[in-house]
Amino acid sequence: MSTTGLDLRVGVATDVGRVREHNEDAAFADGGVFVVADGMGGHAAGEIASGLTVGALGELAGREDLRLADIVGQLDVANRRILRSAAKNPGQTGMATTVTGVALVSAGGSPHWAVLNLGDSRVYRYIEGTLTQVTVDHSEVQELVDAGFITPAEALRHPLRHTVTRSLGREILPQVDTWVFPPCPGERFVVCSDGLTNEVGDDEIRAILGAGLDAQACAQTLVERAVDNGGRDNVTVIVVELPAYPAAEVDEDTVPRGGAS
Ligand code: MN
Repeated sequence: MSTTGLDLRVGVATDVGRVREHNEDAAFADGGVFVVADGMGGHAAGEIASGLTVGALGELAGREDLRLADIVGQLDVANRRILRSAAKNPGQTGMATTVTGVALVSAGGSPHWAVLNLGDSRVYRYIEGTLTQVTVDHSEVQELVDAGFITPAEALRHPLRHTVTRSLGREILPQVDTWVFPPCPGERFVVCSDGLTNEVGDDEIRAILGAGLDAQACAQTLVERAVDNGGRDNVTVIVVELPAYPAAEVDEDTVPRGGAS
């Protein structure tokens, strides 16, 4: 991954699940851009919306000096492409998509992670056994949890749990949530659709991340667990790992102080 200057390990996995006929999730993972979109809309229109979105963001992959503003600008491009396609194709009326992910951007002259989110797909960060949900869902149930009307546990079974309050495919680009922070060796990100998080709890996700698997095996195991636990939705997972000790920094001839006579 020379364009980013960081030696990232990446795994991607997706599955249609046990119930749905189409996989309306889409993912892009290359060149410092790692995004998942979960399309909504009948007659396979959802996969058009999610595909247009990850395609638009994928155009930023490998770009030197990528800025957060470029990512938000490209989400506006994706939104307009969805609206244009829907206007030309009546079967696509009302199609929409979530989008979430993490990308390497330049901030203050050094590489930083930029996490972005619209909707209820998620980005988690894992380091040294601790799993943190970076994104905040844009959903009816999250608003009810925030207001104190229901608990997070009740949200998992609530009838409004699939209703997103922000997405691409609406007339105006909604406010995009973003977080920018410096990279930290040893960290991993999980970028996923709700097909993972509705089937696999945070404790189970943490256990799989802590099992010593490489990025690809980790992504595949998370997806398999979601399907095993019910597979009621499409499930897509990207795992991005910044190894603790980049290979380029390992000097075979170096010996510890006092270790050689
Ligand atoms: Mn979904």
